[in-house]
Amino acid sequence: MQYIPYGKQLIDQDDINAVVKALKAPLITTGPKAKEFEKNLCKYTGAKYSIVVSNGTAALHLASLTLLDIGDKVLTTPNSFLATANAILYAKAKPVFIDIQADGNIDLDLCEERIKKDPTIKAIYAVAFSGNPVDQKKLKHIREVYDVKVLEDCAHAIGSEYEGVKAGSCINSDCTIFSFHPVKHMTTGEGGAITTNNKELYEKIILLRNHGMQYNKDIAPWYYDMIALGFNYRITDIQCALGISQLSKLDKNVVRRRTLAQQYDEALRKNTFIFPLYPYDGKSSYHLYVVRIDFQNIKISKIDLFKKLLEYNIGTMVHYIPINKQPYYIELGYGNEDTPTMDKYYEEVLSLPMYYSLSDEEQNYILSSLHEIVK
Ligand SMILES: *Cc1c(COP(=O)(O)O)cnc(C)c1O
Repeated sequence: MQYIPYGKQLIDQDDINAVVKALKAPLITTGPKAKEFEKNLCKYTGAKYSIVVSNGTAALHLASLTLLDIGDKVLTTPNSFLATANAILYAKAKPVFIDIQADGNIDLDLCEERIKKDPTIKAIYAVAFSGNPVDQKKLKHIREVYDVKVLEDCAHAIGSEYEGVKAGSCINSDCTIFSFHPVKHMTTGEGGAITTNNKELYEKIILLRNHGMQYNKDIAPWYYDMIALGFNYRITDIQCALGISQLSKLDKNVVRRRTLAQQYDEALRKNTFIFPLYPYDGKSSYHLYVVRIDFQNIKISKIDLFKKLLEYNIGTMVHYIPINKQPYYIELGYGNEDTPTMDKYYEEVLSLPMYYSLSDEEQNYILSSLHEIVK
């Protein structure tokens, strides 16, 4: 069997054609494609406003600068890519790591307890881990009862759905961020976006994306004022053309991923040591397919299993090393939070291959290899 990576982008001829066409246009950055991509993202997610930026981390950075004040405490999850918590630090605010629940998402009941006890908590950064939406009813409740801001990190979750509402609609949050890195299930090479229903937030982020420059053609055709310390977090029209093309087939991509997830779930019922992180329920976009493995009761360790699968030409990955246990965070005094579920989770999980072009034959090979090794 040829090497099977744990994830792979879906690039077809129509994506290539779209990029070539964009390259031949008069404007290859900050042109019409960026605006069109933003319009399409609004239409897809249901949010009023969207801002496309150079990557998901830039999206988090700009959102954090507009949502947070210096010193604000922000509840967030240890189970994410580094960028989620780092963005809180970029804004000179303070991440507070809260334990996860069994499905890998932040435990919103624990968040509520913390907010009740500590009125200096100003925001929650929740990640829809692996594409599984966070509990929107709980988010709604928290926002109604307490004065906290909510950012949804949906870097894994574009195309996911919660009771008919798409990720990024921001019905129960101040804003949502997306990443279009190739490892995600929709890509622009590098890229990201913010969606929001808040006009003021939208205008601030637009300003910060481009050096804080405000053009004023009433004064002179070339005139601009710099009114904030912004950045160059723009994205090219070449990338946005790819994004438009990718978004148009996102649903097809997610449907295939859901089929693969259901097939994994079904086949894993036969194995008494491997369990899906959460059962299929039609909500998740399945950016990742994560399993828990009962290493206590099998002979192989996690490292050896990872290496053994590589010998079978099967790539896997671990999502994630707890952010609060990273050396940089330990230096800042983190690492001793009470996060028993996260700690156990990190010992047990492995992400299996999951991408649009993964064939049934390859999936069967992965499953039979796993059954052979883990018994
Ligand atoms: C990928 C990712 C990011 C960062 O996105 P980039 O585009 O790589 O900067 C942020 N949060 C999560 C959960 C991610 O998976």
